Amino acid sequence: MTKNAIYPGTFDPVTYGHLDIIERMSVLYDRVFVAVAHSTEKQALFSFEERVAMVKEAVTGFDNVEVEDFDGLVVNYAVSKSTNVVVRGLRMISDFEYEFQMALTNRKLNSKIETVFMMPKESYSYLSSKLIKEVARLGADISEFVPDYIGKKVKDKLQNG
Ligand code: ADP
Repeated sequence: MTKNAIYPGTFDPVTYGHLDIIERMSVLYDRVFVAVAHSTEKQALFSFEERVAMVKEAVTGFDNVEVEDFDGLVVNYAVSKSTNVVVRGLRMISDFEYEFQMALTNRKLNSKIETVFMMPKESYSYLSSKLIKEVARLGADISEFVPDYIGKKVKDKLQNG
């Protein structure tokens, strides 16, 4: 039986932390679907089309990873991809409360769906898209946190909108 998994998120923009989780998933699962959420409670810097394009570019090296946009419930998206596995990344204890609530809510919505948590490499465990945008806005070099072409896109977006 093949085993697929989805990795949902905002990816505004994709970082080396996200890519670390995607790499781990690509080893564990037959097919990995990175699911870029259309709408988000967070005010996104990039449109979902731009976020999808950036993740696509970042995962060209993985032949079992696909990138799509999605709208609506994560549990329904998982079913549409023939999987019951939703992967989320856990960085710090601070992620835990929100992730715990979301995993249990998703289980209530569909009891067959399991949320699997993965830890990134230690050196990425403090990385967040939000902080990267904040420091980039203040002129910091973000090349340690995101691939070069993503860094260029962030700079361009912050300068030209
Ligand atoms: P969301 O808006 O759904 O939290 P994000 O794009 O911020 O989406 O993150 C998607 C998933 O990736 C979440 O599970 C998040 O915890 C995880 N993630 C984000 N940054 C990192 C990182 N540096 N290391 C590991 N996981 C991460």
